[in-house]
Amino acid sequence: MRHIAILGATGSIGVSTLDVVLRHPDRWQVFALSAQSRIEELAAQAARCGAAVVVVPDDAARDRFRQAWAGAGAMPEVRVGAQALADTAADPGCDTVMAAIVGAAGLPSAFAAARAGKRVLLANKEALVAAGGLFMQAVRDSGGELLPIDSEHNAIFQCLPMAGAANAPAQPARGVRRLLLTASGGPFRTRALDALAAVTPDEACAHPNWSMGRKISVDSATMLNKGLEVIEAHWLFAMPPDRLAVVVHPQSVVHSMVEYDDGSVLAQLGQPDMRTPIAYGLGFPERIAAGVSPLDLARVGRLDFEEPDLERFPCLGLAWDALRLGQWACIALNAANEIAVEAFLAERLGYLEIAPVIAGTLERAAARTGVPGSLEDVLAADAEARAVTRALIAQRQAA
Ligand code: NAD
Ligand code: MG
Repeated sequence: MRHIAILGATGSIGVSTLDVVLRHPDRWQVFALSAQSRIEELAAQAARCGAAVVVVPDDAARDRFRQAWAGAGAMPEVRVGAQALADTAADPGCDTVMAAIVGAAGLPSAFAAARAGKRVLLANKEALVAAGGLFMQAVRDSGGELLPIDSEHNAIFQCLPMAGAANAPAQPARGVRRLLLTASGGPFRTRALDALAAVTPDEACAHPNWSMGRKISVDSATMLNKGLEVIEAHWLFAMPPDRLAVVVHPQSVVHSMVEYDDGSVLAQLGQPDMRTPIAYGLGFPERIAAGVSPLDLARVGRLDFEEPDLERFPCLGLAWDALRLGQWACIALNAANEIAVEAFLAERLGYLEIAPVIAGTLERAAARTGVPGSLEDVLAADAEARAVTRALIAQRQAA
């Protein structure tokens, strides 16, 4: 029996994780669930899975949870605040942690899980973008396990020699030439360029193939998501930037590929349903049922591939810049994007202003040399970058 803490349980990945976990009551027991909002849904989830612990952001959320509780059994222990979240990720009550909080807000808890030697199922890509070096070192030092849940990285992991190894490699796998990350191109791949200025948050969130949280949906529309994933792949697989590539594949059936020295290219295919990579992480090294319908290739009909268009998707180019500039730039890229996307979703920033605002923030971080030595360094640089981005957005609004 394994015990899991699902951080970000009410989100898109959290809900899919609970769905797979509840299909396997013989294997999995839920130790803890966390949520920032939608506390009534959290209460319903906790009642359904019998979680021992829930983590909520503040006292008001704790009261709401208690009011909403309608479970038959004992009410879970309710823990409050960011420190409780990190402590729960490291709690001896769980051996596995699903890190499915969105944004750098998920970094401290994911890092705590890595440091505590847990099996970390990592959906929270922003944690690796902001703190890749420290994160991978923490997994190595603790002897923990790291399983990528992001579909591209999960696909690559599956295609690596002997299906990878759930540790943190310090060098690229032998015989591997390149990693090829596929990208759908999102909802604006073929939209007229001059129509992009007017796109709304709902249009940006209407992904053609995947159903996801709003932040990652906007990231997919700008392709900054693929940029974050290139940086994520760099850390997960110890792969230098010039051996990473992005290929646009509108059908989202090939989830990513590994190119070998002998010319072989291995791909992982499947439905665009996150329960497949989640089940792979949960079951590793075994395969377990995910509730996903079989892939009908005749119905898919064709698989197309094309080069990414950096004029249409300047955010992807910015991410490549940040990766080459180093870790401070990656922290700034991620922080700036979170603030810009939040402003776009609140209709305070236009879609086409997202890239210039990120570029402006990156410029300020570009000169900084060295690497962050601690989680505190990362969080301080993240906060600084957010302040710069907020100021840039305010300037635009004033202009
Ligand atoms: P979501 O917005 O649907 O859910 C986010 C979850 O995190 C919610 O439970 C929310 O309550 C919690 N949360 C939000 N802010 C928080 C904070 N400040 N502190 C603590 N908890 C907080 O997001 P999602 O789409 O499930 O994505 C989660 C992560 O997984 C992201 O990093 C995303 O990039 C990654 N991911 C998602 C998908 C997908 O299909 N949705 C695919 C690949 C990777
Ligand atoms: Mg992905």
